[in-house]
Formats: sequence, C-alpha cells, structure tokens
Amino acid sequence: MKGTVYKSTGSWYTVKSEEGSFYECRIKGKFRIKGIKSTNPVSVGDKVIFELEEIGDETVAVISGIVERKNYIIRKSVNLSKQTHIIAANLDQVFLLVTLNNPPTFTSFIDRFLVTAEAYEIPVVLLFNKMDVYDPEEMVEVNYLVQLYQEIGYTCIEIAAKEGDNVHLVKEMMIDKTSMFAGHSGVGKSTLVNALEPGLKLKTAQISDQHLQGQHTTTFAEMYDLSFDARIIDTPGIKGFGIVDMEKEEIGDYFPEFFRLKPNCKFNNCLHLDEPKCAIKDALENNEISWSRYRSYVQMITGEEENYRIDIYKE
Ligand code: GDP
Ligand code: ZN
Repeated sequence: MKGTVYKSTGSWYTVKSEEGSFYECRIKGKFRIKGIKSTNPVSVGDKVIFELEEIGDETVAVISGIVERKNYIIRKSVNLSKQTHIIAANLDQVFLLVTLNNPPTFTSFIDRFLVTAEAYEIPVVLLFNKMDVYDPEEMVEVNYLVQLYQEIGYTCIEIAAKEGDNVHLVKEMMIDKTSMFAGHSGVGKSTLVNALEPGLKLKTAQISDQHLQGQHTTTFAEMYDLSFDARIIDTPGIKGFGIVDMEKEEIGDYFPEFFRLKPNCKFNNCLHLDEPKCAIKDALENNEISWSRYRSYVQMITGEEENYRIDIYKE
C-alpha cells in the first residue's frame, strides 16, 4: 500500500493510506534514502510504501520503502555530532507571515528566509498581516515591500487574520496542497490558522523562537487535514528553516533577480562585490535591483547579522 506520513514519534509512524485510512506503522530494518544521512529515516510528509504483516496472531503495518522526496527541511542538532534531523518532506509551499510592527519583521529576516527556501526548493508566499493597524506611513512601506517582492516573483497577499480580511485568498492557495506557516512569534500564525480552520491549534506558536535555526527540541512535526481539502504541517519549535550549508558562490543564485542577470557579469564566478563589469552592481546603480536586497545579500556573504528595515527613501 501507499500512504503519507502524518505523524512520527521516532519509533511509530502514523500513515494515511491512499484510501484514506490511518495506520500505525513500524519501520522494517534499516533503509537509507540516497542523498541524505539523517537521524530519522522517515519524516512527516514522506510518501511511503507499507505492508500489513502477520506476526504471531497480530497484524502489524510495516513501512518498507519511501518515495523520492520533492523537497525537505532539516534541523541540525546543536551538539558536536551535528546530526541532521529531517523535520518535514514534500512541502508544496510555505506562507511567511510578515508584520511591520508588533513584532517588526526586518527585510534581512525575510531575505534570509527566502534564500533558504530557494535552496530547499520550496515556494514561499508572503502574507503581510495586521493590515488593519498600519498608519499611512506604514502603508507606504507595506506597499513598497509588496511591489518589491512581487516583482522578484513572490506572491504577496495583504491580510488581516484577526478580521478575516483576505483569508479566503490564502484558503484558495491552500487547496489540494501541503502548506506550512512561518514567521516570528506574534505575527499572527495561530490567529490565521484559526480563521482558516476554527478549532485547530498549532503547536508552532506555543514555543518561543529566538533563532532562525530550529531549536533543539524533541517535539515532532505533525500533519493535519483541514476541512477544505488542504493539509498543514505544524512544526513545533521551528521558526525558520534552519540554515542550509551554502557556499558563498551559490548564495547569489538564490536571489532570483540576481540569478537572472548573472550571465551578464564579466566573471562567471562573480560574487557581485567589487568585481569589474558586474551586471548586478550595474543593475543596482540603475535602480533595477533593490538596495535592501543587495544589502541582505552582502550580509549573507560576509556573515553579518544586523537587523534592518527597508529605507524606502534610499531605494
Ligand atoms: P503567532 O505567535 O504567530 O501565532 O501570533 P498570534 O496568532 O498569537 O497573534 C499574536 C497577536 O497578534 C494576538 O494578540 C492576535 O490577536 C494579534 N493579531 C493577529 N492577527 C492580527 C490582525 O490581523 N490584526 C491585528 N490587529 N492583530 C492581529
Ligand atoms: Zn556580478
């Protein structure tokens, strides 16, 4: 039989079969998926093959194989062994909630998040929340950000989760897909999920999140079916995606607007810093690339970690 993993405790896996029944499965022996070595062989979101086996007079469901993953997100343990744990697999999209205030979401954070998602090959939709509270000056900033990220190619939706404004647009995007919600604590993830599916409470929001990297927690991700043919993966303790190991040379490739222009740089290993005839620096001077995005890029290259908001007057 084929199914999808909805929950795992490390030794038991709750699998929903294609017919829609749930099975508590064990894993048979050891099997390794090519490409990644992790502490857990199977994670939430994995598509698996499983069989019912008679052991004595008991019937046991046993996972015997795994379908190649479309994508996955990982967490590295903080201890010396640096072991990798797969948090979730086969995500169709991540909604990143952004608020200007209470809490502030800095562009440095948004850009780091987007870069990681590009590296993981997971589409991101930006949800600008709390649209009901912004004053005219803040509205200028929100509109600027929406235009900026939309031009790069990211879908942006302005919502007010608490008021239910535009929540139906989020719902439409979720149909038939597996989604995850991310963003600083206090941006409105629980409020939004509750507006989408009254009664469903995410564990994600109950855990404080100081770091972009997933914290060292023993809680496991879990998938939920919603009433409108959509699935959510709840990832307790994970605010961002964790840091992917990236070479300096590849960071620019995860800024889609840089990547498009890169073939025009004189050097094909151009880091777009001080090299001559750099197409990205030229585009920046011509205001075809955002200073805010470039600044985030330089930060990621140099390893700085300063938070900043967009300066629309400099742009
Ligand atoms: P989470 O930590 O991301 O899950 O955030 P919560 O859903 O707990 O929301 C944090 C606070 O922001 C709560 O007091 C919510 O009522 C409030 N909030 C959420 N969405 C909105 C919104 O659209 N407008 C306003 N004004 N407040 C909101
Ligand atoms: Zn360049």
